Amino acid sequence: MLKSKAYQFWFCTGSQDLYGDVCLSHVAEHSQKMVEALNASGNLPYEVVWKPTLITNELIRKTLNEANTDENCAGVITWMHTFSPAKSWILGLQEYRKPLLHFHTQFNREIPYDTIDMDFMNENQAAHGDREYGHIFSRLGMERKVIMGYWEDADIQKKIGDWMRTAVGVIESSHIRVMRIADNMRNVAVTEGDKVEAQIKFGWEIDAYPVNEIAAEVDTVSKGDIDVLVEEYYDKYEILLESRDEKEFREHVAVQAGIEIGFERFLEAKNYQAIVTHFGDLGSLKQLPGLAIQRLMEKGYGFGGEGDWKTAAMVRLMKIMTQGMKDAKGTSFMEDYTYNLVPGKEGILQAHMLEVCPSVADGKISIKEQPLSMGDREDPARLVFTSKTGPAVATSLIDLGDRFRLIINDVNCKKVEKPMPKLPVATAFWTPEPNLQTGAEAWILAGGAHHTAFSYDLTSEQMGDWAACMGIEAVYIDKDTTIRQFKNELLWNSAVYRK
Ligand code: MN
Repeated sequence: MLKSKAYQFWFCTGSQDLYGDVCLSHVAEHSQKMVEALNASGNLPYEVVWKPTLITNELIRKTLNEANTDENCAGVITWMHTFSPAKSWILGLQEYRKPLLHFHTQFNREIPYDTIDMDFMNENQAAHGDREYGHIFSRLGMERKVIMGYWEDADIQKKIGDWMRTAVGVIESSHIRVMRIADNMRNVAVTEGDKVEAQIKFGWEIDAYPVNEIAAEVDTVSKGDIDVLVEEYYDKYEILLESRDEKEFREHVAVQAGIEIGFERFLEAKNYQAIVTHFGDLGSLKQLPGLAIQRLMEKGYGFGGEGDWKTAAMVRLMKIMTQGMKDAKGTSFMEDYTYNLVPGKEGILQAHMLEVCPSVADGKISIKEQPLSMGDREDPARLVFTSKTGPAVATSLIDLGDRFRLIINDVNCKKVEKPMPKLPVATAFWTPEPNLQTGAEAWILAGGAHHTAFSYDLTSEQMGDWAACMGIEAVYIDKDTTIRQFKNELLWNSAVYRK
């Protein structure tokens, strides 16, 4: 489902004709070598494509407009090898509308002390030219990423790679279509929002469908197709029968298999990449989609519970941003449930009624059936597991009435001390940065939801860069957060982002 597109990034070197053809031939040769090395490094998730040196207003404008219309181009990487008078860039940049990285680097690592002369200085003056170029972005008030460092260094290459993933998130955001099955849960505030504004800001299309339309699709799934998928479940997952009747257990699992197949067909046919459901509005569905939604999330669909379309779109976005990542640890919808407040062991137990993505699972995954204790349907089958350990990022997109705010929290995932044999849901457990007390206080002051879009494979920098490209407010809760500073930041932002 998560089809990866072979996006490319254009590498555009800026210069001018003041220093003659020999100098320009060196500029072209150097930038070609850099592009080759970047592509060979294994540190970039997407290909870099070398473009001829930009030395005139006309060529700059033409190239940036070609980047706008090239469907495979997800962004442009620029670097001023010599000096490129920045007035030449104004019109081109004003017309450019994709992510842009200003890579502030230099062809040579070391000053050639024995041979350096003025020709060398003129040819290798990124320290000078990149400042002139950077100035015009600031003057134009344009968003761009600046990365400084030597192009052969792996950590710098990885930073470029991280930015590429953010850029693909920016480009792909406008392709996210969220299917709403039922409305938001009654009386709940934080899962609401302005869907028109979301389309203006993020490009998301958010449409409602009656639950019985998708339920009818589920009803058309053949017994043969369901039996094949149930066999796959029984092969892949451990069955926790727990003294339930074996035949009835299998029948309940088969209901989820029918939902998985029917939902996926309905989403595919109508071209949606994210879905929300609501336990209180299930129409003719026999169970709340549990196992089925978990499997769809694993395939790359976004999901939000109780009609939460903002989180559903964010989960999809974050799955796109991590696609094709080697050793990815997972991305999921998550919900803050309950605390452990024992000193030294503080943290938040994360789960949902059923819907946690198995991509975050650590070790074995089992199928369990239990009453939901909410709603009026059959005991749903669900996948249960615990999640991986390590650093991760939890995000919440909220609508403040006059603007969107993205809250980004660095968290550290841990194992709980003991098994929880009576808890029938998949879980994660994390301690937010800088600690539970300050992290939770800051989250609540910022108005963050109980639902999050969560990933082990993205950083707060990537999420903040995405928000900046979207032109929305982002606040970070991390190791440097203090409440006094954070409250001031919220206050200042309320002035900055006022419409
Ligand atoms: Mn929920």
